[in-house]
Amino acid sequence: MEQVRIQLEGISKSYYAKTAVTQALRKINLTFRMGEFVAITGESGSGKSTLLNIIGGMDTFDDGEMYVDGQPTFQYDEEDWEEYRRNKIGYVFQDYSLIGHYTVLDNMMSGLLIMGLSSDEAKNTARHYLKLVGLEGYELHKATELSSGQKQRLSIARALAKNTGIIVADEPTGNLDSETGDQIIALLKELSKDRLVIMVTHNYEQAEKYVTRKIRIHEGEVVVDVLVNNGEEAGGELQGESVQQQESSEQEKVIEQQTLSEQEGEASRKKVFWEQFKTAWYFASKNAVTQLGRATLFTIFLSIIAIASFVLLGQLLVYEDDISTKIYSNKAFYRQDDTRLVVKKADGSLLTDADFAKMKELAYVVDVDSCDYANDINYYVTEDEDYEYLYSWHWGSRDPVITLKFLSDKKFMKSVDCITEQDLAYGRLPEKRNEIVIYDTDDSLLNRSKKMYFKANNIWDSGEYYEANLKIVGILKEETEQIYFSKAMCQMLSMDIDSDLSRIVYAYDYRKMDYAQKPEMVLVIADDLKDNQVRVSKDIEVGVTGEILFRFWEYDENGEISEEYVEQTVVVQKKTTGHTRDFLEVSQELFDKYYQAENKQASVYIASYAKTDEVISALERLGYSAISTIRVSTTDYDEILVFDRLKVMGICFGGLLALIFAEVLILRSLMKIRVKDYFVLKFIGMKMQMIRKISYLEIGVYVLVAMGITVALMWALNFAGIPLVTEMMWYYELKGYIAFAAYNLFLSVLTVASFNRLLKGRLNA
Ligand code: ADP
Ligand code: MG
Repeated sequence: MEQVRIQLEGISKSYYAKTAVTQALRKINLTFRMGEFVAITGESGSGKSTLLNIIGGMDTFDDGEMYVDGQPTFQYDEEDWEEYRRNKIGYVFQDYSLIGHYTVLDNMMSGLLIMGLSSDEAKNTARHYLKLVGLEGYELHKATELSSGQKQRLSIARALAKNTGIIVADEPTGNLDSETGDQIIALLKELSKDRLVIMVTHNYEQAEKYVTRKIRIHEGEVVVDVLVNNGEEAGGELQGESVQQQESSEQEKVIEQQTLSEQEGEASRKKVFWEQFKTAWYFASKNAVTQLGRATLFTIFLSIIAIASFVLLGQLLVYEDDISTKIYSNKAFYRQDDTRLVVKKADGSLLTDADFAKMKELAYVVDVDSCDYANDINYYVTEDEDYEYLYSWHWGSRDPVITLKFLSDKKFMKSVDCITEQDLAYGRLPEKRNEIVIYDTDDSLLNRSKKMYFKANNIWDSGEYYEANLKIVGILKEETEQIYFSKAMCQMLSMDIDSDLSRIVYAYDYRKMDYAQKPEMVLVIADDLKDNQVRVSKDIEVGVTGEILFRFWEYDENGEISEEYVEQTVVVQKKTTGHTRDFLEVSQELFDKYYQAENKQASVYIASYAKTDEVISALERLGYSAISTIRVSTTDYDEILVFDRLKVMGICFGGLLALIFAEVLILRSLMKIRVKDYFVLKFIGMKMQMIRKISYLEIGVYVLVAMGITVALMWALNFAGIPLVTEMMWYYELKGYIAFAAYNLFLSVLTVASFNRLLKGRLNA
């Protein structure tokens, strides 16, 4: 008697549907031995497939026990059944269970790679068995392109190639013409020589002369079980020898693989991990390559999620600093600009050209203006936009009274320090005090004059303004509202600001016979004045026109009026037009006598507020002290702005949360479409663990591509100058990219985990 391979003892199986219970098998007792070729027959619905599935380890049973090679299976867990399917069973399915989008060769190789063969070994073995079933030359055809007979032969070749001791076949000839069917049965017969072959068939006549045993099932019970043909051999000749040869070497291979996985030791575990990775990679890449449409769809979907998350995270980064929720006070810095830093030497010494050059070289530094104070001085250049004239008439007067009204304080001076020759389309940089460069589309404005007003709103008395006609000597290439002034002009207008250099003018008041204080007068140069000539506005109380004595006091270091003063006899002219009365016009000579430009601090403009801390640190490392003008000028929170910030952050968090659900739900549903393939892989012996790995790897690749696409797209939009993106990209530093990658990887892991749970449920149902 041949060795017993499978023994069924009182096996029962029922299917529970919502309304009815179907008892598919009732107390089946059967014993199968090596070398048998068993035909199971019976009418449709009698339980044949159920029986075969139980033998094949693909279905569970309710009652009874199945022994495999004499060992009971009651203690088998899911992994043991996986091992069983993988190592003991070759399954030929009625519906072929091929992966349609794989080639013939890939379908074969799937089974073999699962068995643990290397890809070269798998390829050779696959070719061998394809030749055996007559599919030579079809290796690169897609499985769906084969005829039914060819599909069934492929299904058999796949089962054979696994070289297992048991082959079960569910109506292998059910969809074949009789001639092909005969060939298939002859093939199975040949195989049963040293195996157990169990075949379900509708068409017993076809199998009659080959099989060694006939079992008939009726309503879940064995009604006939007879040996036929005396167990004698019948049937055709096949290339049996070569099968034999191949088998022994493969068996060793499988055993080798098994013992390897049981071995302890880092090296072998690493090797197993690597082998498994390679196998998972094989299937993952096959899935992607053979279903390009699906791969593209997944990548597009993941890209949409990635882009949305990139923007939402970006907004969170932008709003991370709560500076945007505070009220700006323009007391210290009238110009509200979040990219402006004010920089001094840490030791308080004067800044030199070398210092400015050093600052300019720092990363993210855009402009360095040595005329810091001028950066808080407004200029007004366009009538009806920056300022307007108001006309009023007094009773009985024909001539209107003209008053000047400033409309907006949005334009601030910058000096020529912030531009170079390269920025000019026409002309030259401003050199003399009254020269400027502006932007225009052509050179027609060159050498024209512009009337402008200036106000140092946080320094001069309110209402005081200075008027000047400035000559355009250069035209900028790039469009900007900014006008660039000579350093002489910037220094002159901001001279009053630095307390060390400031001065009070006392003029001798002849009526009081004493020096009367005219505090806070701003000295400005008038080119038509020479030597010791000065000019005052007509309502200033300096007595008479002509030669008078002026005393110039200076503030000392403590801001007190110094004891020392300089007396100067000046020739006073009365002013009739122009700036307001607190300006004392002097000659260049007189001005130079008392004041000289000194640089104690500079304005440093950075590319984005996002880089404030970085640039401040860099400056401090170089021995400077730097402050962000917006930070020192914002202290109190604005409730509305705080609420706005919370709203934006809330929306971003909500969006990121919503994306999780969107991805898990939608992507999981998309993945479900291919569940059938996983059934095939499971039936041919793939472990759940490997199925899981394949999903992770496949989605992992798509998500990496999606993240790459997102970052590339964002940089492209950044370079194209899309404002929302440009602002956001400044805030994207390593931290941001890590958060972006972590979020998207987390999402895909969550999706795959959720899909795998669903898949496990389906596969084990
Ligand atoms: P056969 O292969 O002989 O045609 P099956 O083994 O497929 O029969 O089915 C036996 C009985 O069990 C049938 O009545 C069938 O309807 C029922 N059955 C089979 N599979 C299921 C299932 N998954 N759920 C519910 N009933 C099932
Ligand atoms: Mg069936």
